[in-house]
Amino acid sequence: MTIGELPWERVLDQARELEQHGGAPVPATAGSLADLAVTGPAEIFEVSLRLTAPTGSIVLSSGGTTGPPKITYVSYGQAVGRLLREWRPLRPESVLLNLFTPGRMWASHYYMQALAERSGCRVVPSGPLEAGELAYWLDAFESLGVDAVAATPSALTDLAQAVLDAGRSLPLRTVIWMAEPWTEAAEKTVRAAFPEAGFWGNYGAVETYVIATNTPACDLRTLHLMPDQIIEPDDEGALLSRAGEGWTVPVTRYRLGDRLAPAHCRCGRPDGLRVLGRADDTFKLHGSLLAIGDLIELATALPGVAQAQLELVREEESWHGVRRLAVHFTGTAEPAALRQHLLDGSARLFGIALHHPEALAVARVDRLTRVERTGKVPPMIWRQP
Ligand SMILES: [Zn+2]
Repeated sequence: MTIGELPWERVLDQARELEQHGGAPVPATAGSLADLAVTGPAEIFEVSLRLTAPTGSIVLSSGGTTGPPKITYVSYGQAVGRLLREWRPLRPESVLLNLFTPGRMWASHYYMQALAERSGCRVVPSGPLEAGELAYWLDAFESLGVDAVAATPSALTDLAQAVLDAGRSLPLRTVIWMAEPWTEAAEKTVRAAFPEAGFWGNYGAVETYVIATNTPACDLRTLHLMPDQIIEPDDEGALLSRAGEGWTVPVTRYRLGDRLAPAHCRCGRPDGLRVLGRADDTFKLHGSLLAIGDLIELATALPGVAQAQLELVREEESWHGVRRLAVHFTGTAEPAALRQHLLDGSARLFGIALHHPEALAVARVDRLTRVERTGKVPPMIWRQP
């Protein structure tokens, strides 16, 4: 079952056009999506390089922290014109605080600058702030009239917590979020600090830019696929095809890094989707296959666990095998209680711990490890043995 609708003729026309610009070859007999090649970063690189050559471009990258960078050439308009036809989180009177990390070829900061520019509003290109700095900046933001903020859920939670800790308020009407899933604890903190704010979400990737959006009328975790696109859900990573003008890059069956599923949204609009998790989300602990997303979900289901992160220690001489799993979490729960909860909730983990009790460690921490480049909290980090 696909998400969204796109007539086959339009997909085929697009695929043939991409073929002329460095995309995958199209078989002469192609009669349906399944006949077209699955594409990846190599096609995005070639096609985006060639299509932006006449106008110039911004060179951006995803990855590069734990794997090779995936390079994309993005036209200066950053496809905001197409986006604004259906998603307008900002008004001309808005003052947007842009907390996304600038530099390092990450797209989000520059995308938010372009969105503010095309919305005709003011923008404060702050980038992320440490908790200590925020105390100094809250007065300034209030006097600037900041009423909208754009950031990852992690950075939004930091801002919200600083506001709550200072016993302050910041009269936000608009929260723009992307690039990370929400945890229940994060949502609670941000809503408590900014009770008047509507949440506006984006889903996409640096290579594709925005694929789906939602508005305050939607379920927070459901997004709507933008028109002229179709998604084939797949356990190895959903496949995106799109047609029409105005995208940062047209794609045919591009393999995304996430598993996606169709979803119904309370707003009643069609083409809803949910992000189930990363496609490359499993690892072997002493020979048993475990899914990172399942373990995080299990851990955060225990009351008192705000957010959790897995730290994996490799088997020596192995890239896939894991010798030791440490579950780090924030919140008020007792580590021993979380350990028991994990063993009760996962038969595989129980079996492993029976024979290798040292394979599972649980620790409460003040702050989970973040990716320096983006400020995101990854669900899993590797530690060298
Ligand atoms: Zn909706």
